[in-house]
Amino acid sequence: MTEYNNDNTLSRTTLTAQRTVPCAVLAAPAATRAVLERHGIHARKRYGQNFLIDASVIERSIEAAGITEEDCVLEIGPGIGSMTQLLSRAAGRVVCVEIDTSLEPVLIDTLSDCDNVTILWQDVLKTDLRAVCEEFNDGRPMKVVANLPYYVTTPILMELLSRKGCFSSITVMVQKEVADRIRSGPGSKEYGALSLAVQYYAEPEIVTEVSARAFLPRPNVDSTVLCLRAYDVPPVEADEGWLFALIRAAFNQRRKTLANALSHGLNYQGLRLTREQITEVLGAMGLSETVRGEALSLEQFAELSRRLAM
Ligand code: SAM
Repeated sequence: MTEYNNDNTLSRTTLTAQRTVPCAVLAAPAATRAVLERHGIHARKRYGQNFLIDASVIERSIEAAGITEEDCVLEIGPGIGSMTQLLSRAAGRVVCVEIDTSLEPVLIDTLSDCDNVTILWQDVLKTDLRAVCEEFNDGRPMKVVANLPYYVTTPILMELLSRKGCFSSITVMVQKEVADRIRSGPGSKEYGALSLAVQYYAEPEIVTEVSARAFLPRPNVDSTVLCLRAYDVPPVEADEGWLFALIRAAFNQRRKTLANALSHGLNYQGLRLTREQITEVLGAMGLSETVRGEALSLEQFAELSRRLAM
């Protein structure tokens, strides 16, 4: 059943099983080509569409996420349904958020043996994910499993991580370079806001490296499946508001000294502190006034947040 918004655009599609015999696995080169041909569509570059044609990658992701019938899964970007199909067989319920409404007839076709899938036709970055969790899982934490669109991976991950209590784990395909950034520590050029946000909220695990050959069309980069398991309690004690304001300010201007980056960047976020106040706190922490944000560990950012929040 498909519902529409007031302006007649698609709102959501709730699938009901139209057939009892399971459809053939979609995540294979011939099956994917056949679907694209049958519906006369091409992968859309502007939406980061690279469809998975290797079912073993999906199976490993589902296994790493430990999906069972007890789980309600959020999939971002179902595409033609390759991952959705296997998630639907493993999970109790699957909620997908897809921006490309032209895929509606495709998904109604490819998921015609599924009756536990709902597709919300919207941009995931404009979606109220807490409301999704309330509506589909009575507010209990959902699990995210997705092959993310690479052009918006970082904002999507930041959004998912900051929705406290909504997701118990996030198992996602990302560009290998993003996985490297997530695992990096102070002093490396990959280290930044994303590395710190992940360290604060979740324990990262590499599930598998994935070659460009596993996709149609092939991307120009290699990929990695990551599983981020949310901590019940963060590994450091921090004032969260200050912590993320500090991290944003420090890495928005990472070439500047931390004192300069913070005195400009915090003002911009409505938190007024003079350069002198900041250097005094840095000094009390035994840090030089010329230190850059990229040299500080999560623990040091947390200490800075506690001192500045006082
Ligand atoms: N899950 C499919 C698979 O593995 O074959 C497709 C993955 S493809 C890499 C990314 C998907 O995300 C596409 O279906 C694309 O249309 C969708 N997408 C892109 N930007 C989006 C956004 N902002 N919100 C929701 N979906 C988005």
